[in-house]
Amino acid sequence: MSLRFGKPMVSIPGPSTIPDRVLNAMHRPMPNIYEGELVDIAYELHERLPAIARTEGRVFITIGNGHAGWQMAINNTLSRGDHVLVLESGRFAQAWGEMATLSGVKAEFMEGSMRGPVDIAAFADRIDADIDRSIKAVMVVLTDTATSVMNDIESLGRVLNDADHPALFMVDAIASLGCDVFEMDRWGVDVTVAASQKGLMVPPGIAFCWVSPKALDAYATADLRTGYFDWAPRMKPKAMYELFAGTPPIQHLYGLREALDMIDEEGGLDVVWARHAALADSVRAAVAAWSTDGGIAFNITDPDARSNAVTTALTGSIDPNELRARAEAGAGLTLGLGIGGMADAIRIGHMGHLNPPHILGTLGTVEAALRAMGAPLGGSGAEAAARSIGGHL
Ligand SMILES: *Cc1c(COP(=O)(O)O)cnc(C)c1O
Repeated sequence: MSLRFGKPMVSIPGPSTIPDRVLNAMHRPMPNIYEGELVDIAYELHERLPAIARTEGRVFITIGNGHAGWQMAINNTLSRGDHVLVLESGRFAQAWGEMATLSGVKAEFMEGSMRGPVDIAAFADRIDADIDRSIKAVMVVLTDTATSVMNDIESLGRVLNDADHPALFMVDAIASLGCDVFEMDRWGVDVTVAASQKGLMVPPGIAFCWVSPKALDAYATADLRTGYFDWAPRMKPKAMYELFAGTPPIQHLYGLREALDMIDEEGGLDVVWARHAALADSVRAAVAAWSTDGGIAFNITDPDARSNAVTTALTGSIDPNELRARAEAGAGLTLGLGIGGMADAIRIGHMGHLNPPHILGTLGTVEAALRAMGAPLGGSGAEAAARSIGGHL
């Protein structure tokens, strides 16, 4: 029997739930694109977005998904043959590094674990060994959406700073900007990449690069610049459309303004981060309670390295495809499966527009499907999550 009648719920690690307010803000016919409100919004967003990455630097926006943001960052800061160091911690860091290779730079991959964060000491050793300062950039993800690890960007930045190493520090914050704490300027980050459809609650379609003055210096000599992604016209636009190298993502801009208003109304980023932490704690309480030999287990073993945006749970002897199918067909809940070679895993997204009914509904439904399958369970994750949420009410 299927009980899925009602509003379907998607609890995957992006794209995330779009608030009705954002959808409604986007639901409009084409405005005048030459003057008036849209032009004002485009400039307003460029003013407001730096605060979201906690930077005094500037932001560039492109139409495209997160991959477009990656490409924009590479093309505007690097040159052919540059040596970059990619800090692996899952599928997304690898893919960004592979894109850098295809773009013409020499990417060196510092191997990482699929079950933990980038090793700070190993990074420090690699940086110390770079005596002739050949590494031009270091690329890392804040949260790797495959493994659900959250890297310690602050400590990585400190390594570069303490070594007085000139490499650009480039961070993919696509999964968890607006979810996990991220302090671009304080942590010494030079380029931050993000996209609209995860913590920022807007449909996929726009990506961002926030840049430090040092990144702009690198831009001045970067020879991978391309016609489309080049920051030059976006830097000193003679008309609004130059901010986007052509037609702006009109409806997305209305949606993004609404999403930023919602973040402000909630009390700002600190409040949004605290909500994510509380809801993520309840997911972790559920996974901890479910965990048992041969069954569910945390993928990330170090509790301090678990992201507040996504949780990857290993499923042991439990078939994740069946779990996902039962939750979807029977209850209208869509879960994420493992990616990047992680076959026996599910991923629960807890990013963006999210509250206890959403998270408890997700976790209760996962538990119902696990019980229906006769899965081995250490205990009730739904109960543990309710207790965790109850601690905040
Ligand atoms: C989602 C994601 C990407 C890719 O974004 P797309 O919009 O799918 O191109 C890259 N990195 C991380 C960490 C992500 O979570």
